[in-house]
Amino acid sequence: MDCLFCKINANEIPAEVIYEDDKVIAFNDINPQAPSHFLVIPRKHIATLNDIGDEDRELVGHMVQVAGKVAAEKGFAADGYRTVFNCNPHGGQTVYHIHLHVLGGKPMGWPPYQETLKTEV
Ligand code: AMP
Ligand code: ZN
Repeated sequence: MDCLFCKINANEIPAEVIYEDDKVIAFNDINPQAPSHFLVIPRKHIATLNDIGDEDRELVGHMVQVAGKVAAEKGFAADGYRTVFNCNPHGGQTVYHIHLHVLGGKPMGWPPYQETLKTEV
């Protein structure tokens, strides 16, 4: 399968892995948007959030728990951090293998978009 994150999972592409177990891997984002920016991915290929099945609920919960554990190891869990799942083009998804972004080390802005919402059709 031609999937970048499956290739990282298979060690075919290098990554700065900071956590791994039999279900998930966490590695630093190649284009960090915060002092610390890492991704948590399942070893299993799931293309988008829309493709998460009932059988994946524990796996996705594990991804979220690992995000918090790694944030704690990195020392910014108490200060706080941002977690993001981007889904499909409007969500800004570019890699179609689900991944949880974890951004920390500075205060995050909200909302995450700048443009004025258009209500006219
Ligand atoms: P998204 O836009 O939500 O699909 O996020 C994809 C993320 O993957 C982006 O933040 C990229 O910087 C990151 N990324 C792309 N290629 C790599 C790579 N080889 N290693 C680590 N992160 C990557
Ligand atoms: Zn994949």
